[in-house]
Amino acid sequence: MKGTPSKGKGARSLSHTYCRRCGSRSYHIRTSICSSCGYGNSTRFRPSQSRKVKQK
Ligand SMILES: [Zn+2]
Repeated sequence: MKGTPSKGKGARSLSHTYCRRCGSRSYHIRTSICSSCGYGNSTRFRPSQSRKVKQK
């Protein structure tokens, strides 16, 4: 092959988007799991938080 087109733009499937929790672009869209903080991994799993979360 010669003259390989180095076109970066194109079929670039974006699998990760910005996480709403940590803000990193590690939130997987398909799996809905953030590989950085683990957001969306398990809905039941709540790290030491009461049922009712007081929001300021
Ligand atoms: Zn995250």
